[in-house]
Amino acid sequence: MAQHFLLSAASRTISLKAVLRMDNAEAWATFRRLRWPETQGEPVCPHCGGCICYDVARGGSPRYRCRACRRDFSPTSGTLFAYHKLHVRDYLAAIVIFVNAVKGISSLQLARDLGVSAKAAWVLGHKLREAMASEMKGAMVGGAGAVVEVDGCYVGGHIRPENRKEDRKDRRLAQHQTGKRRVVVAVRERDGRTLTSVFRSEEESAAFIRARVERGSTIHADEAASWDDLRARYAMKRINHKEAFSFADACTNQAESFFARLRRAEWGQHHHISGLYLHRYAAEMAWREDHRRDANGTLFSRLVARVAACAQSVDFTGRWQRRAG
Ligand SMILES: [Zn+2]
Repeated sequence: MAQHFLLSAASRTISLKAVLRMDNAEAWATFRRLRWPETQGEPVCPHCGGCICYDVARGGSPRYRCRACRRDFSPTSGTLFAYHKLHVRDYLAAIVIFVNAVKGISSLQLARDLGVSAKAAWVLGHKLREAMASEMKGAMVGGAGAVVEVDGCYVGGHIRPENRKEDRKDRRLAQHQTGKRRVVVAVRERDGRTLTSVFRSEEESAAFIRARVERGSTIHADEAASWDDLRARYAMKRINHKEAFSFADACTNQAESFFARLRRAEWGQHHHISGLYLHRYAAEMAWREDHRRDANGTLFSRLVARVAACAQSVDFTGRWQRRAG
């Protein structure tokens, strides 16, 4: 049997040990190289794009002044790590820990590993999820000849059954539900990328699927009536999961693999995922699923580069309170 990828040496190209041994200059140089790859890490002004910058650091973190617009900036200015409080090496360490956690990592565990507060780790985790999600923002999957699997996975709104049988209610009935149940709908191009979104029911996802799956794709889905409307736009193959998981080449096995990873993150790491943030966890697990064959050094570089490419976080800068929407 072929060796599992994660057991091979090729999967390990960076380690927490290597990051924690970096000195200040090496950690900043690593961040700068990934932020400004086109100049091999030489600073580029985030305000005007000017490439001639003076070093105006007075000890501590690096700081530059742009010759063209005379404004100052640091390597993290205009990124998700703007106004950072931790040492840059600790952020790089956090990213190694985060990409190595193939089923996700809880903020409490990250807090213990980094020696920061639970709130700080929670915010950091969500910034990293935001960076992962940005990779597929607005992207489409499929196209002529491509197969796209569509499926849904219900999360949350669990009702604990009463102890005594006579007190138990029929949890399938709408009046006995909490209203917190949501469905993650995944569209996954076979051997390609996974896109996710969150709805109250599968029926609500048709507009999302039409917007994100190219015409000409063949959609594989189960027999739920929720997907019937897609027939007007796409060729479809349906699989009745009560009879077989795969029949005459119709299957949603790749979408199911993604959901297995999401379930493991929910049950094994986070225990409870609030509906408000479910879309972020779904995007995180899609990123992990799509890049599961990449070496961890590649994942690290990709995620640092995404952090650097994302402007300051909309939801998680200077606040940690929940915001609706
Ligand atoms: Zn400038």
